[in-house]
Amino acid sequence: MTEGELLLLHTKAAREERGISAVIRQAVAEYQPMTPEPEHCMQCDEDENGIEREPELMVPIWHDDERTLDVNGVKHTITITGIPAQKCPRCGDVTFSLDLMCEIEKAELRMVNHFMRYNKEWPEKISIEELSRLMDK
Ligand SMILES: [Zn+2]
Repeated sequence: MTEGELLLLHTKAAREERGISAVIRQAVAEYQPMTPEPEHCMQCDEDENGIEREPELMVPIWHDDERTLDVNGVKHTITITGIPAQKCPRCGDVTFSLDLMCEIEKAELRMVNHFMRYNKEWPEKISIEELSRLMDK
């Protein structure tokens, strides 16, 4: 965020006599991301004989990622749903944002702590929205 944007943020928060955190929280909750421009698949730009071919356009999808977590030697399988990704319709390759996957791994640690602390049964699936609510508990 630039210094100018920060000044605008403080101005808008002051107008409502709220803190900037409250304004940012509201903005994040209300923000609806646009569908990204599809990227070209880098995995299948050659055919079986190694001859270059037209790269395939990937399709934006919501991906469900099955993760296996080792918690004190016990394996838990949990599917995180609603991960934005792109999938190649030709070879099936799925690409993710590395930044997001890094954040999901951090969230997983919080999730493990949550289920251990409250001794709760593990759900088979959890959406990113549910995961983000868990982090604030
Ligand atoms: Zn492909």
